[in-house]
Amino acid sequence: MTPSPRLLLTIDYESWYALSRRYDNLESDKRHALDKSFARDAIDPILEKLKDSKATFYMVGELVEWYPDLPQKIFDAGHEVGFHCQVHRPLTTVEDIKHDLERSAGWRRKFNVRGYRAPMIRTIEDLYPLLEQNDFTYSSSLYAPTGTKIQKNNIWEFPVSTYPLFGHPDTLLASRHMSMELLIGGEFPYASSMMSGLFPRAVFKIIERELKKGLSPIIFLHPYEIIRPENWPKRLAKDIAAHPLLYPFTLSKSSFMDDLIRSFPISPVLDFVNENIHEHSKS
Ligand SMILES: [Zn+2]
Repeated sequence: MTPSPRLLLTIDYESWYALSRRYDNLESDKRHALDKSFARDAIDPILEKLKDSKATFYMVGELVEWYPDLPQKIFDAGHEVGFHCQVHRPLTTVEDIKHDLERSAGWRRKFNVRGYRAPMIRTIEDLYPLLEQNDFTYSSSLYAPTGTKIQKNNIWEFPVSTYPLFGHPDTLLASRHMSMELLIGGEFPYASSMMSGLFPRAVFKIIERELKKGLSPIIFLHPYEIIRPENWPKRLAKDIAAHPLLYPFTLSKSSFMDDLIRSFPISPVLDFVNENIHEHSKS
């Protein structure tokens, strides 16, 4: 039996400043001060919004260090606690990924973390053996057409969904991030919160259509798109002026998320992965 189609809603749980690259190399306590408790305070209203729908939260480990209650609240509410990275910044070398995994090992073990989402959804093929050594089951760190699953040694890649306009892509190797190459190849990355910011109705319709086809879209949102940080998006003005493509990430997706919760069956990615892997080994 094929697992029933549903929406795999994921939240890359990071602070508002994760959109900017200007704070990547600060001391951790300086970023903590910048966060101003946003990441701690946003969780209750987000969990309330989800009601009985269960989602996946890919956590930035630094936030777990600052607010140890955060993963516990998510876990106790029945959601999946996954891993986004320890400190949010590009991780595209073996050394950086290794170091980041080492620093997060303690809390990941405590919450039995099995799922990985690369920061900026940009990674390298060398990621997968490292995930295997660190007890992960799956990753969701590429963009690829809805329904794609790729086995890489003992790790499964369940990519963030795209809608292919001209047939399936030839290669599914990392990196498959948001790029001109991806767009020119005819893949509409509807599952990115950039697209749900710009075209919420179109994204909703695509999700509806994919589910009818029996496919399960994997989409992502960020906390600052659901709960508005203070002085938003003004505090990011400098970054938006330099990188206008950041602007859609500051638009509110609160009512978009409500529509999804009202309209579709939703589950954490790990449940879906487990059903799919077992299905695979039976066939
Ligand atoms: Zn992120």
